Amino acid sequence: MRMFMKAAVAAASILGVGASAIAAETVITADAMVDVVKGKLIEKPMIVVRDDRIVAIGKQGSFTPGEDATYIALDGMTLMPGFMDMHVHISGDAETPFYMTMGYSIPRQTVVAVKNAEKTLMAGFTTIRDLGDDGYSVIGVRDGINAGEIVGPRIYSVGNALGITGGHCDNNFLAPEMKSKSNGVADGPWAVREKVRENIKYGANAIKFCATGGVFSKGTKVGVQQYTLEEMKAIVDESHLRGLVVAAHAHGTSGIKTAIVAGVDSVEHVSFVDDEAIALAKKFGTYFSMDIYNTEYTLTYGAENGVPEENINKEREVSQRQRESFSRAVKGGVKMVMGTDAGIYPHGDNAKQFSRMVEFGMTPMQALQAATINAATLLKQERDLGALQEGFLADIVAVKGNPLDDITLTENVTFVMKDGVVYKGGN
Ligand SMILES: [Zn+2]
Repeated sequence: MRMFMKAAVAAASILGVGASAIAAETVITADAMVDVVKGKLIEKPMIVVRDDRIVAIGKQGSFTPGEDATYIALDGMTLMPGFMDMHVHISGDAETPFYMTMGYSIPRQTVVAVKNAEKTLMAGFTTIRDLGDDGYSVIGVRDGINAGEIVGPRIYSVGNALGITGGHCDNNFLAPEMKSKSNGVADGPWAVREKVRENIKYGANAIKFCATGGVFSKGTKVGVQQYTLEEMKAIVDESHLRGLVVAAHAHGTSGIKTAIVAGVDSVEHVSFVDDEAIALAKKFGTYFSMDIYNTEYTLTYGAENGVPEENINKEREVSQRQRESFSRAVKGGVKMVMGTDAGIYPHGDNAKQFSRMVEFGMTPMQALQAATINAATLLKQERDLGALQEGFLADIVAVKGNPLDDITLTENVTFVMKDGVVYKGGN
């Protein structure tokens, strides 16, 4: 037995590779493939996957895969890199009556997150950034997915989003005697640094803070800045020191600009921009992540789902302006990622935002790039994620037809592979 093991190890080292040398290859063929790096459609592609990586990619017939390879022929379909949504809350459900969600324990929120993680992956979103729960439920779900115990996308989780006392990231809905306070509340430069450290201690692999008021909080004005520049700089400095990317929730113009100057990696929502905000984003290389689909859901179903009138009114105030800002940002050449705020609308509908991104100024290719290579670059994972290239992780989705002709095809993903494992479709 011992001899046999030694022989096997020797054989592997002669090949110059590890155990993966004997793993079988999977070969995927389709009618077309979107090359998001070059910005063009490639016809008749062939991708070879071994373990969790793409090991070869090219035109069909341009190379010969290994003899024992398994073939997946996706006739009539177009391949794309797995989609990446940079603003999601998988521990929340839009359909649950608003005040009832406040009675949800952290274990209950975790169950919700497990369910939504699977829905999200099946919709073709192989990577998400979850921008805030209240008690690390999403970090538990992320770790369960990574351990292979449950099914879901690759998750970047911020843990508890940072915010000022009484701000958008606090909970102001309950009576004072309930002494309700969100776990991410911290005031002052050293307190926010401590909160970043605490999030990292418990497993956060991204950071978020609230720079302005927001639509779904009580008593906050969307346009009004919350953290000061000094506090924002402290959050960004501490996060970058630890190697984490920072997202700032900001609707109002001064909050957007202050967050950019503080050095955040992405601004979320970005409802009220002006020329200076666009110029600053370009100067600092800041990404905009703008949730321009969910307004339709909130204005149609919000009242029915128990969203208070104050919040629906704020949505009315923001929605049109945000879409105008989106068009200005695209025209102005700001770097954009896809961020949908799923959880405000039902999970699994994330791709509905693609058509709105096209309606408000992007080409279909730009919309797909926002949800792939741009998002990967924001996360500093552009060598592993967001493109179909040799050496990249095998996160591959497919739709019937050509999404560059009809972007709404992204709403019906028929094939999902993550880390080289097929979760949907195939043979
Ligand atoms: Zn959000």
